[in-house]
Amino acid sequence: MILQHYLKEVKKGDVSIKKTVKAILREAKTLNKKHHCFNIISEDLALSQAEKQEKEPKGRLAGLPISIKDCICVKDVESRAGSEILKDYVPPFNATVVKKLVDEGAIIIGKTSQDEFGFGSFSTNTDNIPKNPLDTERSCGGSSGGSACFTQLTKHPHASISESTGGSIANPASFCGISGLTPTYGLVSRYGLIDYANSLDKIGIMSKTTEELSPIFDVIKGHDKKDSTSLDISSNSNNEVKKIAIIKEAFEIDPKIKDIILSNLEDYDVISLPLTKKYAIPTYYLIAMAEASTNLAKYCGLRYGSTLPLKGSFNQFFSEVRSKYFTKEAKRRIILGTFARMAGFRDAYYLKAMKTRTLIINEYKKAFKKYDVLISPTMPILSPKFSEIKKLSPLENYQMDTLTTGPNIAGLPHLSVPTNSIGKLPVGTLLISNHLEEDKLLNFGRKIEEK
Ligand code: GLN
Repeated sequence: MILQHYLKEVKKGDVSIKKTVKAILREAKTLNKKHHCFNIISEDLALSQAEKQEKEPKGRLAGLPISIKDCICVKDVESRAGSEILKDYVPPFNATVVKKLVDEGAIIIGKTSQDEFGFGSFSTNTDNIPKNPLDTERSCGGSSGGSACFTQLTKHPHASISESTGGSIANPASFCGISGLTPTYGLVSRYGLIDYANSLDKIGIMSKTTEELSPIFDVIKGHDKKDSTSLDISSNSNNEVKKIAIIKEAFEIDPKIKDIILSNLEDYDVISLPLTKKYAIPTYYLIAMAEASTNLAKYCGLRYGSTLPLKGSFNQFFSEVRSKYFTKEAKRRIILGTFARMAGFRDAYYLKAMKTRTLIINEYKKAFKKYDVLISPTMPILSPKFSEIKKLSPLENYQMDTLTTGPNIAGLPHLSVPTNSIGKLPVGTLLISNHLEEDKLLNFGRKIEEK
């Protein structure tokens, strides 16, 4: 049943919220055994919210089951961002997005599995690795792998709230064959999001179809005093898409993926974004790692999450806790990020990355003077097998984000739309629009999906 239809049935009193919630919890538990899409299923919370809504359905999302990426704080439910260092951290508050959803009657069913702190493209940098809904030997993509996996598999009305720093919504949406919206930077409050890289992090939505994203987007966007980067303006309601262009460099990939995407498009121009092609990956990884390395400094075993018996000097204790509980990838990013912003190297790496970021933003801005939507594949490959991922070097891993880092660096809204499959493996089309023009993406995305 499509989400909007369910919301209407609830309003008419034609469907039992409690029954729906019990059924989706049962399904989540069963699927979790095989697919590992949840770190925690918040059964007690969901049932008590369902009880309340059943008595008196209230709000625009009354009775709608929602899963939440593990890095977004849910009051009284363990929220550990896929990391062992935050094990047993139970937030005493709700993230603003969660509060908004609950205030509109949504039911929170659990925390979805992800790469530790969002560090990855395959959801393999964690202790609970989600398995692709269409082939369990393959990845769900990352870092919001669990959200995408469950969104594809569930037979009930549902949407998932996830997060993207450099592609973590679009990438798993593409590998799992669902729709994923990453809004303009600052349009959705980050308050209560466990930070990866503050100047890049965005909270967004995943659902089976583009149509289903809209009611959730309407609820979660908007200014929030608690987030100093939150925008105090609303998104543009003009959804008319007059002119589109495909990004030339983005189609220099597997011809099978290229053909599928182009076969769904009509009347497009071809545009070249050479700076984005050349600099998006190095710019993104330098900025993301620099910011991540400062954000992770607070996890030292004293205030949050995992710890060890206090012994030795502060530095010894600190090193022991961090060595034990961070994954190898988190450690790699701490070292590289710290290096990039150290006195003596800062000008050559971090500041240079900030400058190329501006060049990339300008390149996109110029394109949007002429076009409403830019189009590329979401991922350069189909979902790989875990055995193939193991063989990739860190650099090869980072290269997987070649098509998604551009819009993320520029804070541009983007939408991955499911577009057919090759064999059983889904392909996603990435639509990018100018800042605050989400409605153009949603409108155009629906048209592609209809095809
Ligand atoms: N794959 C990218 C990274 O590892 C993006 C992750 C994300 O968006 N959270 O940084």
